[in-house]
Amino acid sequence: MSGWGLAGQRPSSRARPDSDTIGNPEHGCSLQMAVRSADGFNHVHSEDAMALSRLAQEFAAEIAQHDWSDAPWRMDRAGHSRTSDSPSRRTEQVLTEEETDRVRTNVMWVAAQVLGHADPQFDVHEFAEACGVNTSRAAKSSWIENGLRTQVGLYMQPGTRKFDPLTEVVTTDTSDAYHASTNCTLFRRGYQHAPIRRFAPGEVPANRKPCQCITLNRT
Ligand SMILES: [Zn+2]
Repeated sequence: MSGWGLAGQRPSSRARPDSDTIGNPEHGCSLQMAVRSADGFNHVHSEDAMALSRLAQEFAAEIAQHDWSDAPWRMDRAGHSRTSDSPSRRTEQVLTEEETDRVRTNVMWVAAQVLGHADPQFDVHEFAEACGVNTSRAAKSSWIENGLRTQVGLYMQPGTRKFDPLTEVVTTDTSDAYHASTNCTLFRRGYQHAPIRRFAPGEVPANRKPCQCITLNRT
């Protein structure tokens, strides 16, 4: 995976200045845009601010093109398609469209857990769309997010039910709380574009209260 630049680029382990700001208060999604430019991932910008990293796009392209409709009955290479099977190899059994979408959705979630853990700007809705998942129910509920192992916007580590160890905590001059990272949804919700202050765990000013993201089960 080293060719993708994932190694050593976890957000929590990157060197950061003692104080910085995120984004431009005049733009609603500037927080994401600014962080994206510094996150080490090769995001390809589309017509708006939301865009998948190149790695996420390529995972989605493989998941979308693979024919999952006969997945329980045969093993084939990535990119398998029933339409190119010879009649003798084509399975008689085939999943319904709904069953096929369930398989595809599970595959999408597994890949999304890794991508979201590695990339703070990962957008699971955009990824699901790109994977060819039927997202028509998405507007009515948060069922796509519910397939991920996350809390307050933070992803559990792949293969575990634990979150990353605390290497630093963040707060701002205008906040009375401190957080595990700027990816915490509660931090983002209350962010007022004040400079971000970073502290080693245990060295936070005593007048700051821990956000719930601090108390997550960690490795
Ligand atoms: Zn938090």
